Amino acid sequence: MFDLHCHSLASDGALRPAELVARAAANGVTTLSITDHDTAAAYDAEIPPNPTLRIVPGIEFSALWRKRTIHVVGLAIDPRSVSLGDGIRQQRNARLERAGRIAERLRRSGIEDALEGATRIAAGAAPGRVHFAKHLVESGRVGSLRQAFRKYLGDGKTGDVANNWASLETAIGWIRGAGGIAILAHPARYRLTATRLKILVGDFVEAGGEALEVICGNQGLDVTRGLERLCLEYGLLASCGSDFHQPGRPWAELGRFPPLPRTLTPVWQQWGDGGS
Ligand code: MN
Ligand code: MN
Ligand code: MN
Repeated sequence: MFDLHCHSLASDGALRPAELVARAAANGVTTLSITDHDTAAAYDAEIPPNPTLRIVPGIEFSALWRKRTIHVVGLAIDPRSVSLGDGIRQQRNARLERAGRIAERLRRSGIEDALEGATRIAAGAAPGRVHFAKHLVESGRVGSLRQAFRKYLGDGKTGDVANNWASLETAIGWIRGAGGIAILAHPARYRLTATRLKILVGDFVEAGGEALEVICGNQGLDVTRGLERLCLEYGLLASCGSDFHQPGRPWAELGRFPPLPRTLTPVWQQWGDGGS
């Protein structure tokens, strides 16, 4: 049972790496990758060895493709490689620079302390929209996170600022430079037409991408079938994962998703048996 996509406290997940591993093992997962957004900090943490579960180091990079943000999962990476470190630093700088622009916009809406508040809440991570939203709630400007997004931070609102992510080619280059394999994450979630999705997959392959995440959480059979066809058409490997962030979301629970179609070659085929 392979779950090759989930998040820890190191990005926007709720559990510590050791808690993730324990929960995954309890759900029957035997190979797990913790793929935090633009950081491999989870792999610095103490994770007690689990006799039934092997860990494959991973990451989820945000990248720009034709002005859209898409996600690239990197698996079987060396989390301490120079290439990955370069990427993580560049993405962190992009986040910090964007946080400054969000704060500037909020200041013009009369909120003076946004950057300080969001930075404190982010606790060492680069602040993102959710941290600003939490600050607006904690400081009493709005009654709920939902309201914070509706009023200030949601799409089209004053705090909706584009991020200067790396290009698709660059993000894939970092992953390959770290010895890993690049996987186009949840291709059905970008709300692209079938034609545009094919262009994305074509560009992804040209940039060095090798796999599609055919299963991401509990998804419909029609989605799976469409991605299966794309995989076969482009001769790509297939990956699967829950995209787990926190307990209480049954549609994105560790190890709980449909199996990969049998026509496809899974990414782990090339990893061999015993090693990690
Ligand atoms: Mn997330
Ligand atoms: Mn994602
Ligand atoms: Mn994710």
